[in-house]
Amino acid sequence: TLEAIRAQSSGPGALADGHAVPLLANIGSVDSAREAVARGAEGVGLFRTEVLFLGAEKAPTVEEQAATYREVFAQFPGQKVVVRVLDAGADKPLAFLTDQGEENPALGRRGLRALAAHEEILRDQLTALAQAAAGSDAIVQVMAPMVSTAQEAQYFRDLAHELGIAIAGVMVEVPSCAILADHVAQHADFMSIGTNDLTQYTLAADRLLGTVATFQNPWHPSVLRLIETVGSAGAAHDVPVGICGEAAADPILAVVLVGLGATSLSMSSSAIADVRAELSMHSLDDARRLAALAVSAESAEAARAAVLGAIHP
Ligand code: PEP
Ligand code: MG
Repeated sequence: TLEAIRAQSSGPGALADGHAVPLLANIGSVDSAREAVARGAEGVGLFRTEVLFLGAEKAPTVEEQAATYREVFAQFPGQKVVVRVLDAGADKPLAFLTDQGEENPALGRRGLRALAAHEEILRDQLTALAQAAAGSDAIVQVMAPMVSTAQEAQYFRDLAHELGIAIAGVMVEVPSCAILADHVAQHADFMSIGTNDLTQYTLAADRLLGTVATFQNPWHPSVLRLIETVGSAGAAHDVPVGICGEAAADPILAVVLVGLGATSLSMSSSAIADVRAELSMHSLDDARRLAALAVSAESAEAARAAVLGAIHP
């Protein structure tokens, strides 16, 4: 039974045929880093650094940042920690980085756009990360939020390499970035799909607005087709494709995401055990068949029903 499998399930994520799917944690603090370790995460796929500075009036110094990053990295010796540089704006405003009075902050100067406009803040953060990484046994990588063009990916990787961080990727959470993933992949050491914002922007439905919440469903085939585009581009260019949005925490959808080309999954630590158990029951061929059913459906509900019907006929 599923309960029995769940009880035994631990160790690295893998499909029934042994195909490895690393299961990583989304974290935003030193405490959540500890919880990730306790729940058997194989590393961190999304470290939301802006969470550390949500109340701050002024940009944190290099020294302040490095001290916190060191504490987090110390939890993951020998493991990967993917650090997202400050993702300020819209649902995560930072006083020292976010423009006031934008009429549509979700479409405004947010994420990497805000950092590029205040490049000294980005340089300080990358410097602090490089310093903290140098003294740690974690495998530290960085990624940029809200990338919408291949040029932005190139800008970010060049800057990260200049400041001493060897592996720099992009979040794919804007449809333009997914659609042009074959170009973006050539300027990124990895891609990580943020399904929360990718869903918001694909369906043009504010993720914070309750009245349009039914649109915020990553099962929607429009979103799944974009993920498939990214998965194919990653495979063609030998660039890993992670998932770090809430979609990865839905065990059945996680199987579909692997079938679409995801090479690792990052989620709230509390979801890891259930996702691990579900993955262990499907081969890669099965996952690809289920993914094909989902992308060809007409609606989110139909996609989910088709997949569930194929698993439990
Ligand atoms: C996402 O958009 O899917 C994501 C992982 O980032 P956040 O939820 O922090 O915007
Ligand atoms: Mg996002």
